[in-house]
Amino acid sequence: MRYQTIRSSKGQEADHGILLRADSGRMGFPSEIVDDPLLSLVSPESEPFENAVERRVMSVAVTRARLTLTALASEARPSSFVKELLADPSNGVSGPTEAKAKANNCGECAGRLIYMPAQDGSAWYRCEHVQLCGNRLPACPSCSVGLPRHQPGFDGLVCFQCGSVCQACPSCADGWLVERSGPYGEFFGCARYPECLGKARTLKWKS
Ligand SMILES: [Zn+2]
Ligand SMILES: [Zn+2]
Ligand SMILES: [Zn+2]
Repeated sequence: MRYQTIRSSKGQEADHGILLRADSGRMGFPSEIVDDPLLSLVSPESEPFENAVERRVMSVAVTRARLTLTALASEARPSSFVKELLADPSNGVSGPTEAKAKANNCGECAGRLIYMPAQDGSAWYRCEHVQLCGNRLPACPSCSVGLPRHQPGFDGLVCFQCGSVCQACPSCADGWLVERSGPYGEFFGCARYPECLGKARTLKWKS
């Protein structure tokens, strides 16, 4: 697994690619800060599409992946590029409903994981098979709404809501590692503790 910026990936290819944070907004992609005033100075009237410069960067990103590209976009504010890709069925892009339905399946029993906001403001997902399975997971540590899930072709877990990346728990199908402290100092333990005792000494990514 290699992390690269889109520009540094130019000229290289992989079978599967993941485009992180394809969101709209000021820090989004295309960036809405650098929009028209600057770009129209650079290329007056000559670019037939909006965001033409970033559109070329996007096309570099999309064409780096030979087989699949997964774009992780905010559901509320997806990048305008993601919206365009979804709008035309000839692009062969599968949309969020499909991906999300799968993303919310329990790793223990394949039942549905249901969002459960708790009284104290914390949020959980629990398996619909309460009696038979009982699997439950805290919501994403970054946004408290989504859930970090495995992505095909990627060894981390990515929140379907905010795009944060977490490290997979080495001991269970659904958990991810969070910082904890114990009698022997800091370590990284499964978010499903005490149901899962998976842990690691180091983190590959820090989100
Ligand atoms: Zn289950
Ligand atoms: Zn999140
Ligand atoms: Zn675990």
